[in-house]
Amino acid sequence: MQVEPVAAMKTIMSISRAAAPLLSALLLATTAHPALAQVQPETNTRPMAVPITPSVPDPQDVPYPGTIALEIDASDVTTGAFRVTETIPVADGASKITLLFPEWLPGNHGPRGTLAELTDVRFFANGQPLKWTRDPVEVFAFHVELPAGTKEVVARFVHTSPLRESEGRIVMTREMLNLQWEKMSLYPAGHYVRQIKVRPTVTFPQGWTAYTALDGKSAPDAKTGANRVSWDVTDYETLVDSPIFAGLYAQRFDLGKNVYLSTVADKPELLAIKPENLQTYRNLVDEALAAFGAKHFDHYDLLLAMTDRMGGIGLEHHRSSENQYEPRTLVDWEKGDWDRNVISHEFAHSWDGKFRRPAKLWTPDYRQPMQDNLLWVYEGQTQFWGYVLAARAGTQSKDMVLANFANWAGSFTQYPGREWRSVEDTTHDPVFAARKAKPFPSLARNEEYYTEGALVWLEADQIIRDGTGGKKGLDDFAKAFFGIRDGDWGVVPYEPTFSK
Ligand SMILES: [Zn+2]
Repeated sequence: MQVEPVAAMKTIMSISRAAAPLLSALLLATTAHPALAQVQPETNTRPMAVPITPSVPDPQDVPYPGTIALEIDASDVTTGAFRVTETIPVADGASKITLLFPEWLPGNHGPRGTLAELTDVRFFANGQPLKWTRDPVEVFAFHVELPAGTKEVVARFVHTSPLRESEGRIVMTREMLNLQWEKMSLYPAGHYVRQIKVRPTVTFPQGWTAYTALDGKSAPDAKTGANRVSWDVTDYETLVDSPIFAGLYAQRFDLGKNVYLSTVADKPELLAIKPENLQTYRNLVDEALAAFGAKHFDHYDLLLAMTDRMGGIGLEHHRSSENQYEPRTLVDWEKGDWDRNVISHEFAHSWDGKFRRPAKLWTPDYRQPMQDNLLWVYEGQTQFWGYVLAARAGTQSKDMVLANFANWAGSFTQYPGREWRSVEDTTHDPVFAARKAKPFPSLARNEEYYTEGALVWLEADQIIRDGTGGKKGLDDFAKAFFGIRDGDWGVVPYEPTFSK
């Protein structure tokens, strides 16, 4: 993901003002109070813990039998509701099935699954409604009882996407939508998600164009005239990694090397980018390949929404990324300089984060918790490359990029929170803080593994340059670390080793 540049700037500006009075208040608060000892008498009734019995099977690296048919109606731009019918084959003789809603989401680095927006959930077999219960410990799990001889379960539900910002990120407007499969599908527990096969089908509003990294898109339905398309059977991991941007005003720019800038906009005139500015995105592809060496996609879509109506996003995937610019950022090139970092950041993630991933951040499904300690590599070095590549390519000016690094370096000299909390410890913020505003951010710290992480890698670059007499720098590290196994778009995990 990416940190929102404007919000980061505001946080930084509040630091020095906030620090002084807060520290005084904390010192006063340490004044001792007399202890008031009080224990419960043994005559009080005292309950004992009820043991928790796990009831959701752990994932195994074995194929799930059959192919799930996932059919989503995304044509209702009035309510923003996505209506889902999912047909799930079941193993012979099964008396129950446990279906999971994705909780720990890749790129979110935390348990951000939008379970509260999953509504009107019903299960059927042979046309008859089935009894289901939600697991009281793992509330993202649905246990469904199956009558004897059940061959498949049909799940019907509605993803009620937010209609206003206070409810969450708006993903559908009258001009565009952002369909993320993990928000509108269930998957069977007990299997690695790469072992679950799915055939996806979506109905879009008439006249809209859809972009995604999924392969094998069918033509719209000739019989009914509906804008209903499907893609080749894929695995659930690739599906979740391949979101859709679709819109009424859409244009796809070929950047070369099988990379595309696939755009949707609030209005058609927002896509009128000048040729010399479009060229900077072609430069970006060339610069990234030059820095990282091997590429880890067969094709890649930079999905980009020019909007202030749909919610903002910067989210990485192997073969695509989800990006949002302010509406006029492509046409008012100079004024939009500050806004254009997200694309180079998310593109760099194809190498750093998706292909090379910390071993404990990779999980076999979306139920196992992620351990975020190495986000200062995954996000910190991506923050570094996102800015450096933007300057080399010209998608952002060199002045803008240098100003950002200077801004971070200056601000961290004023951060009292750096005295108690390491950059590594801030990697756990996505799990418990969820980017909610904090009362004293300079003391609490935020997700600073992005910006302070980038400064760590700037220093690493300087150390390499000093140690090699200027012959090598972080580019050489990047080629050695990310530039392996050309064409492989799997995941090569890593773990830290420390020598004394
Ligand atoms: Zn990121």
